[in-house]
Amino acid sequence: MHMPSTSPPAGIDATRVALRQYLQEELLPLEKRLGLSYEDKFPRELIRSVWRRCRALGFYGIHLPKALGGQGLSLAQLCLLKDDVAASGAILFPHVLGDWGGPSRIGSLVRYATPDQVARFVTPVIEGDMGICFAMTEPHSGSDAASIRTRAERDGDHFVITGHKHYITASTFSDVAITMCVTDPEAGDKGISAIFVPLDAPGVRMSDDCVPMTQQDVDADIFFDRVRVPATNLIGPEGEGFRIAMDRISVNRLLHCPTMIGLARQALNHSIAYAHRRQQFGGPISRFQAIQHMIADMATALYACEQMVLATAARADRGEEIRTEASMCKLFVSERCFEIADKAVQIHGNVGVTHNHPVEFIFRRLRMYRIVTGTSEIQRNTVAKGVLARQAA
Ligand SMILES: Cc1cc2nc3c(=O)[nH]c(=O)nc-3n(C[C@H](O)[C@H](O)[C@H](O)COP(=O)(O)OP(=O)(O)OC[C@H]3O[C@@H](n4cnc5c(N)ncnc54)[C@H](O)[C@@H]3O)c2cc1C
Repeated sequence: MHMPSTSPPAGIDATRVALRQYLQEELLPLEKRLGLSYEDKFPRELIRSVWRRCRALGFYGIHLPKALGGQGLSLAQLCLLKDDVAASGAILFPHVLGDWGGPSRIGSLVRYATPDQVARFVTPVIEGDMGICFAMTEPHSGSDAASIRTRAERDGDHFVITGHKHYITASTFSDVAITMCVTDPEAGDKGISAIFVPLDAPGVRMSDDCVPMTQQDVDADIFFDRVRVPATNLIGPEGEGFRIAMDRISVNRLLHCPTMIGLARQALNHSIAYAHRRQQFGGPISRFQAIQHMIADMATALYACEQMVLATAARADRGEEIRTEASMCKLFVSERCFEIADKAVQIHGNVGVTHNHPVEFIFRRLRMYRIVTGTSEIQRNTVAKGVLARQAA
């Protein structure tokens, strides 16, 4: 099932057909052949082969400008593709468009990359030859991101980096981390800089002691012990890292939404099929009004989420400021999609609580979205600030 949008982004239909064809005829059969399950530790070479294949097909980094090998998609168009890959049921879906370890992690930082950085990091990431992660959070510094302590001290034409980054997505298969470091401890958030740090540099150690509830091998902690990197790895001007990262936060928050929607859509589809299939008291459970009402609430919430996200993406595409609306989307979509997953588990009965059944996995995966990229409470803070400022007394 796919709810029609009131104003579907144009010019993307052929790409969606090709993408679905790849997912259904290539990626899903490959996963089946290899017997993959959600919690497997996938070999790097397998992940890289998916990146390169998707690059060859034009999906990997498809949102990038044409000059960088993408198709310069609008955000609204990208939202539809992200929804499609997440709804497909493919386990490796976050690798198809370049979300995990791919060009999406670089985001708008690409605008600040020097030609040397483009050659050493950006192009290899876009080509699927190198994986990249974004490392801001530290054990004592989460929502209060400006309180990071990882220190980068200048030593001639190098930075020497010491610190600990926590729960960094895609670090387990990345080659380089965009690492947020304090370069001037006296300057608050204006003393934070973004630096490319190769993860094979002497002094870098990875630890996967913190395993998320999805049990997936994606997030790890990164320890830096006097790691020397050339000063030419600094992204943008020194002290501008926090501003550069925050500049893209609204779009990042918005772009998590179609993934949640796609996963919730998958859970709804499973629920409808199961409700038709499962027989109790002499017939399918879909004839019980209690089940019908859950499905009605799920479909209604999904429709609201989808329309809200597409409307916000269209506003951003028109160049409008979306800080408040992006936080509204992240808040609403993460909470509604988790409720959808919860109802999916309920409809599936014991099947729904069985470890690694798709709806059980989606339930765990969607729960995490109320924390990552800014918790629901932080989104409410942003929404309240925006709304109150618009109607200042
Ligand atoms: C699976 C996963 C992947 C992640 N990937 C990355 C990544 O790739 N890169 C990266 O840098 N980080 C990453 N993170 C970190 C993530 O961004 C943080 O977990 C998130 O910002 C929240 O910080 P925290 O967990 O330290 O919670 P805290 O900030 O300690 O918050 C704890 C509680 O207090 C509340 N709270 C805090 N401040 C306020 C406030 N001002 N007002 C109201 N309530 C408040 C929070 O909402 C929450 O309920 C990841 C985390 C997870 C779990």
